[in-house]
Amino acid sequence: MQVFKFGGASVKDAEAVKNVSSILKHHASEATVVVVSAMGKTTNKLEELTKAYINKQENIELLLNELKDYHGSILNDLFPNKQDAIYNDIENVFVELLWILEEEPSFSYNHHYDQIVSLGEILSTKIISAYLNNDGLKNKWLDIRGIIQTDNSYREGNVDYVLSETLVKTQLLPLLQNREVIVTQGFIGGTSENYTTTLGREGSDYTAALLAYFTDARQVVIWKDVPGVLNADPKYFKNTKKIDELTYHDAIELTYFGASVIHPKTIKPLQNKNIPLYVRSFLKPEEPGTLVKDGEKGNTATSYIFKEDQILLSIQPKDFSFIAEENLSGIFNLFSKYNVHIHMMQNSAISFSVCTDNDIQKIEPLINDLQQHFKVLYNAPVQLMTIRNYDQETISKLSQHKVILIEQRSRNTLQMVMKEDSF
Ligand code: ASP
Ligand code: MG
Repeated sequence: MQVFKFGGASVKDAEAVKNVSSILKHHASEATVVVVSAMGKTTNKLEELTKAYINKQENIELLLNELKDYHGSILNDLFPNKQDAIYNDIENVFVELLWILEEEPSFSYNHHYDQIVSLGEILSTKIISAYLNNDGLKNKWLDIRGIIQTDNSYREGNVDYVLSETLVKTQLLPLLQNREVIVTQGFIGGTSENYTTTLGREGSDYTAALLAYFTDARQVVIWKDVPGVLNADPKYFKNTKKIDELTYHDAIELTYFGASVIHPKTIKPLQNKNIPLYVRSFLKPEEPGTLVKDGEKGNTATSYIFKEDQILLSIQPKDFSFIAEENLSGIFNLFSKYNVHIHMMQNSAISFSVCTDNDIQKIEPLINDLQQHFKVLYNAPVQLMTIRNYDQETISKLSQHKVILIEQRSRNTLQMVMKEDSF
């Protein structure tokens, strides 16, 4: 059996959904678990909606209508029979959403976020499963929240491997024996109290890898709008090149530093069971894409990973004491408490610098807490450039018209925190 993952871009409109059906007809001749993300930019919209709900903004209804219209127009294109049960199904999800929005917020922001944002994947999978069934591709819709079990770290659920594996064996695998295709959600999970959690933005790849791990799948294919893993993000760089093969090791390094083509958590479960991962183009499904697999020899091609909208924090003990083990352990505890991930760090005698995502919801409470013992300075927005297998020429080229705030080199990797030069 195999696991396929289709991201938001691959299901962003009716044409795209039809293309998914065509890919499955050509490439799913064995039992296949199809993991799907929310359609297009739905997750971003639902994030906006969550903020509007928590802050009691006036645009709640507007956002809700945008979401309804968007999904409604895809439904119209895919289901000419207006009596099709799917119309009712989707209406019910929106009713559920409305109920959530009508209640007073009573839990943490992150808790509400997960209950609301997760519905993007519920909507997309219901639509896709129904369309595939109509299109002759018999499949079963599965609610993954009853299978992938997490703790209650909202927005970043930690997966309970033992429990989830048992549920996969008892609930998911039996479905695969009768029906060859299962359509289910990426990105979301459930807690023991039956609340929904999410696994972190772009987490559908991780879901696909987990399901492959639990089912001992033969392979995972992530279908993308790029030909495979490229040496740089085409959003920022011209003349990108596709990498044909990567080792798990290279892939984890690239994604850890922010190559957004695969979610960083995806590699570990696959490496642990030696399951190959293909990253292929849904626009050119006959092409081989990139293969990520076990192997010794690393990739020596230069790769660039560019992260925008970062913040550089500079943390200094108020009493002028050194940045030593004790201070550091206090600082790290706070980063972990607020779930803020460090992308790069550097210390001097009395200052510790950290580059991380400029996510105000997380950073503000962190800074407040840090300020009890430290003076905190920050610089935002800044950019983080990571170059794997670097050389001087590329460094000079990429740092043109930029001020380099901090820089770090290891044998293979160079990282620079930069700001646009304003002169
Ligand atoms: N829909 C979620 C997101 O946009 C998960 C994913 O796409 O993998 O972050
Ligand atoms: Mg997505």
